[in-house]
Amino acid sequence: MGFFLFPISYFTCVAIMSEVYFCAANEYVPLLEKLEVLLERAGVHHLTGIVALKMHMGELKNKSFVKPFYIKKLVEVMKQHGGDPFVTDTTTIYKEARYTAMDYYRTAFAHGFLPSYLGCPVIIADGLKDDGVRVNEHVEIAKSIYESDAMLLVSHATGHCASSFGGALKNLAMGCVTKKTKKYQHEVTRPVRNPDLCAACDKCRAVCKHHAIGEDHDLILENCVSCGSCIAACTTGAIKPPEGMSENLQKRIADVAHAVLRNLPYSTFLFVTFLIEITPFCDCAEFEPEYLSPDIGVLASSDIVAIDRATIDLIGADKFEGDPTIQVREAHNLGLGELEYTLVQI
Ligand code: SF4
Ligand code: SF4
Repeated sequence: MGFFLFPISYFTCVAIMSEVYFCAANEYVPLLEKLEVLLERAGVHHLTGIVALKMHMGELKNKSFVKPFYIKKLVEVMKQHGGDPFVTDTTTIYKEARYTAMDYYRTAFAHGFLPSYLGCPVIIADGLKDDGVRVNEHVEIAKSIYESDAMLLVSHATGHCASSFGGALKNLAMGCVTKKTKKYQHEVTRPVRNPDLCAACDKCRAVCKHHAIGEDHDLILENCVSCGSCIAACTTGAIKPPEGMSENLQKRIADVAHAVLRNLPYSTFLFVTFLIEITPFCDCAEFEPEYLSPDIGVLASSDIVAIDRATIDLIGADKFEGDPTIQVREAHNLGLGELEYTLVQI
């Protein structure tokens, strides 16, 4: 190829590529044995001091969460490189088996996330119920995550009934914050009710655990945590998700991810995403043996936008309900990372 003289604007517009490291699931060597090299190539040696290994340890009825034997390996590798990790997550806004720290410890231990097995503590980051550090009008970061020195964000790639896709951005935005900030993001998914279709069967009131449906079956919005149970229970179509739900939720996810990453007192992050047991719903949902894709492998990167983009590309954007890329493009526009990436196979 010969030389060209480009206008200066060419150089300022040229795409920046981030590296995303990838070990495939379809080869002879088990994924577990590749994780050490994957982390080393992605820069695990930067994760020093107290490292929050943030992950979703699975709702009690779920089985497809990232399994403890992978986490044990990640902990081992971090310790070898000078990190002092703890495994962490935050409590939920809906009342199930991770609603308080006590509930979550019981669920985590039942799923095998035992400190004696993992080789590090398990700490629910927002305290017993809701302890955080407020960083702007809407965002409170869970205290133990805020007080760490670095973060390894371990995500499980899935579809999602409201946000289309759940990967690193969603794990960070929903999972590193207190109930108040989870509620802020979910506000845009609160159901709407059409009284003309209501048969007054009372099923919605029976399933709502948050006293968010009155005797007249009107929604009491300030109590609603957007769990979606009433939508599933209503057989007449009187209760539905709001218009534009997925787009609005994905935009809030990107906004909150930006607030978290820009307001933590440290800037050392590594993102690891497991593209295995890729279910249509997230790890809060009851397990159904249904998958969007066969197992693909594990990704690691220091760029949260690039890793989510690569995750969607490897699974196939058409496998998701709606457009899964809105959150990724929004996060890129906010300056959180690059849409272009180089996939480096381990
Ligand atoms: S989504 Fe429905 S069931 Fe869930 S809290 Fe809101 S009103 Fe209650
Ligand atoms: S479940 Fe649907 S039809 Fe039954 S009371 Fe609630 S809104 Fe009305």
